[in-house]
Order: sequence, then structure tokens, then C-alpha cells
Amino acid sequence: MHIVITGGAGFIGHHAVWQALERGWQVTVLDNFYTGKLENLILPSGNLPGGLTVYECDIAAGPIPDIKNVDYLLHLAAPVSVQESLEDWEKYYRGIVHGSERIFKWARERGCQSIVAASTAAVYGDSEEWPFQETTTPRPMSPYAEYKLEMESILDEYHSFTTQAAALRFFNVFGEGQPDDVGYVSAIPIFKKQFESYQPITVTGDGRQTRDFVYVGDVVEACFAALTRPNAGFETMPVWNVASGEETSILDIAETFGGEIVHIEEREEPRRSVANTSLINQTLDWRPSVNVLQWIKEQRDA
Ligand code: UDP
Repeated sequence: MHIVITGGAGFIGHHAVWQALERGWQVTVLDNFYTGKLENLILPSGNLPGGLTVYECDIAAGPIPDIKNVDYLLHLAAPVSVQESLEDWEKYYRGIVHGSERIFKWARERGCQSIVAASTAAVYGDSEEWPFQETTTPRPMSPYAEYKLEMESILDEYHSFTTQAAALRFFNVFGEGQPDDVGYVSAIPIFKKQFESYQPITVTGDGRQTRDFVYVGDVVEACFAALTRPNAGFETMPVWNVASGEETSILDIAETFGGEIVHIEEREEPRRSVANTSLINQTLDWRPSVNVLQWIKEQRDA
């Protein structure tokens, strides 16, 4: 099997690459390396592992390499900051809508049999229909979320009997290798770095806002389950929440690290986010295996 992974040098991407290599697949990474890192993909010897080819390539602009025999496409590449998208929507239109359109077309032209693309829980925005189901009416609060929703409908046009497609709405992903330096840094790596350097943990607002945290290894499993599912000839493209189904407050996350907490200015953002995961449980037999507070305790005590 040959899988192309866009954004394969990034946080979720590099876990997917190593998992695909473990399955004995041939892997091609397309990454623009704006936030992805080559060091995520190299062995301690300094070489790339056998079976892996890496291209520096911006899928939203310029040529995409003419690779043959693409069985699967896992499309993870995108600019990822909700806050930044509020200031620079054009970057997000180009990166998410235009980039996705180009790579889906490219994959179909190469006979790709299965496409899975990363969408986001941000599409639910300030909906109050908790827990969010895939059928919950989206209420995006940012260009990032709007364009991911647009990407889902573009992908829907590619869903057919020969090329099956699926969109996965990732909730708040955490785990090893999450960036704490370049680009967008999410709350858990910020808190981890602050804890490790004896700095106070910066909690926005009262910290009682909640999120649904899902472990990166579980997210990668969901991607592979979706990619390799038998072709059921679905009439409509499946959209699946990828989440733990558990609601955790930011204050609980901060307190589990321990140490001093300071409250900083609150953001304009969803107050609660939690998924109903029964659809992915039932259709893909997928369940999360790692709990966020447990994981933090292990990191803290390591
Ligand atoms: N957050 C925080 N302190 C920080 C960074 C983020 O309390 O230094 C909060 C943020 O306001 C949000 C939650 O942590 O309520 C998760 O933020 P993140 O950026 O990780 O994800 P998202 O906002 O996309 O859910």
C-alpha cells in the first residue's frame, strides 16, 4: 500500500507516518515545513527510514510532485490557528480551501481509493447543542472553522464508488511531540512548558471553559480505521467526530500539572466543547484509549 500524507512532518502527521511505516506501507510526505519539522521524520542515525519519501511542497501553490500509484491520501496539511485566522483570513482560505481542492483533485487523478481529511470541532463553534453530534448545526466562529466546513463539502464532491472519502472532526488533540515553540501552540504544551520551567500556568478567563481532549495516538488510529474501512458505497460522505466524549475544564488541566496559576484575559471562544462519539464507536469500532488527566499525571511524574 502507498499512502500520501500531507502535513506529515507536523504534530499529528508524523505520528501517522511512523504508524504507516510500521504497517509496512510505502509513505510519501508532502509538507511545506512552515511548522512541520524534518527532525520528526528522521532516525537517530540522521537518515530517513526506508519506505519514506519526503517532498517539500506547498499544496496550495506551485507544482505537486507527479507521484504514481497513490492508494490512500491522508490530508492533514493546513494552517491551524483559530486566532490567527481572525486576523489573516486570506492565508486560511488559500491554505485550507484552495490547498484541499488541489490535493483532492491530484489524488483522484492518481486513482486514489480512499481519502481522509482533517476537519475540526471548531465547526460547532458556539452551538449550545452539547454534546456535539455530526448532525448538530455548525456555528463556526472563525475563518478557520468556516473554511474547514467548506473543505468538507468540497471533499463530499470527491466521494464516489471508486474514491471513498471521509472527514474527521478532530477535537482538542494532545500528546507527545506537540509543538511548544513554532506557530500555533495549544494549551497543553504551553502549560507543560510553564510547569517544567517553574513558571505560573496562564489560564484564560476563569478557566471553567471546557474542551474534549483526544490523544494523538488514538487520532491516528481513527485516521487509519477510516482510510481502510471497506467501501460501503455510502450515498453520503461520512463525517466523524474524533474525540474522547469527555468534558474537561481548562482549570482542571492546569491544576493537574500543579504549581501556581495566573488568570489572563479571556478569549472570544466557545465556552463548552464536548462530542458525542457514538457514530465513530459504532461504524468504525473506534474508541479512545488514553485519558488526558492521566496522561498529564504521567508526564508530570516522569
Ligand atoms: N488557554 C489557556 N491558556 C493558554 C492558552 C490557551 O487557558 O495559555 C485556553 C484557551 O483559551 C482555550 C483552551 O485553553 O479555552 C484550549 O485552547 P487551545 O488553543 O489549546 O484550543 P482551542 O481554543 O482551539 O480549543
